[in-house]
Amino acid sequence: MTHTVVRGDTLGAIARRHRVTVRQIRRWNRLRGDGIRRGQNLVIYSMIPRRPTRVIEHTVVRGDSCNRIARHYAQRHSGGSATSRRAVRRSMTRLNRRLRCRRIQPGQVIRLEVIGPENPSRAVGRTNRGTLVNGERLVDGPGYTLMKPYVWGTNEVITHLLNCLPMVRRQRRWRTAPDVVVGDISRRGGGFLSPHRSHQNGLDVDIGYYLKTRPHPRIFRNVTSRTLDREKTWRLLKCFLETDQVEMIFMDHQVQRWMYDYVRTRPGWRRRASELFQYPRSRTRHRGLIRHSSGHRNHFHIRFKNVDSNDD
Ligand SMILES: [Zn+2]
Repeated sequence: MTHTVVRGDTLGAIARRHRVTVRQIRRWNRLRGDGIRRGQNLVIYSMIPRRPTRVIEHTVVRGDSCNRIARHYAQRHSGGSATSRRAVRRSMTRLNRRLRCRRIQPGQVIRLEVIGPENPSRAVGRTNRGTLVNGERLVDGPGYTLMKPYVWGTNEVITHLLNCLPMVRRQRRWRTAPDVVVGDISRRGGGFLSPHRSHQNGLDVDIGYYLKTRPHPRIFRNVTSRTLDREKTWRLLKCFLETDQVEMIFMDHQVQRWMYDYVRTRPGWRRRASELFQYPRSRTRHRGLIRHSSGHRNHFHIRFKNVDSNDD
């Protein structure tokens, strides 16, 4: 990616934002010293997923403090480390010359950078007959590999993915875990995406299971009871479930059985497992958030709720 230098930028600050070192930035751009100038374009191979941002203006009200303002805006569209309160706080320093946080006054205008596109995205229609307006693209990031180019989703879906896809890798014991493989989400504007019936409005995501096979495949691969990495797959699933925004997960009945048997052994999940999985009921029973659908032996399919629709 390219970083365009703005007023107040320093090499150190840019490096911190992208989790790289000053030395790396110098090398990628053949820089000698620390001198950079406004408007200059720097090549950065960032370690954090880049999301669209925009600069907004906040008018200070009574009781505001710089930290409070930062916290307020960090909460919206939160997700991914780039949206942290610290990042918003830093953007205030960067975008407002001579900002004195201890002396801010009601009525004063402060510029800050928030995560989120200019025009928020919208899932229109149904998953099997719909479109996607102002979709956001899932970009490459640590912990996952993109298998297909059709990885456009709603801002909320991308937020959940950026939060959860690196989740396994973030665990201390799994620092060297392989990338999880991500398949189709939706086309840029949604609509029919072969060979799926759904995946039409940015709410459906195909994700491979974690396998114990090494090297870990970078494509979807059928799992067996021997190759399925239940622990890591469950950690990932649990992250998605905790968003409370999952409408449905499609998973082969046989894979459900392996996951169900494992999840039931987890503390506090013995009962909840049978509400969550369709298994051990038959594959035709309409019960559980996790349901059988053929073709889901090498990946699971997660469908998020449409936050814009009022009918559910
Ligand atoms: Zn799918």
